[in-house]
Amino acid sequence: MNMGQNKIDKLLYHRIHNWLNYYYGKADKCENIHCPKKTDYFTYALIKGKKYEKKRSNFIMLCRSCHAIYDLTKEGMKKKSQKMKGRKFPDKAYDTLRKRLSIKVNQYTRAGKFIASFPSSREAEKQTGVQDSSIALCIKGAYKHAGGFIWKIA
Ligand SMILES: [Zn+2]
Repeated sequence: MNMGQNKIDKLLYHRIHNWLNYYYGKADKCENIHCPKKTDYFTYALIKGKKYEKKRSNFIMLCRSCHAIYDLTKEGMKKKSQKMKGRKFPDKAYDTLRKRLSIKVNQYTRAGKFIASFPSSREAEKQTGVQDSSIALCIKGAYKHAGGFIWKIA
């Protein structure tokens, strides 16, 4: 039997979410420190760059509105705004939205020893000088280190 990739993805999605809810309980908070706290609806969000696997560390808890921002891409926003006649998409709008999204990060030595915790990757950049974007790529797993440190979502 030939199942479409979409269907397989959906099955996997449900299986992983059921597993998360079963072992870790339902998502009950939003890990974005700038959360506008508009909703009581929380979900596990797959961390960008991670795979749908039975690994708690691949997910963060976000409310519905922060999840929407988290999943938003510049391209996606451009497409959406093009559909609305005559409205141009300002790059700023995306940056403003992203600024509202800050997820706590931990800094570790290359050997894996905990050093410090920061309220956001932007704050970590301010205090350590390691670029925000490099920290993000390290969290996503694209880089092993950033600025000589290992970074993880706290
Ligand atoms: Zn939120």
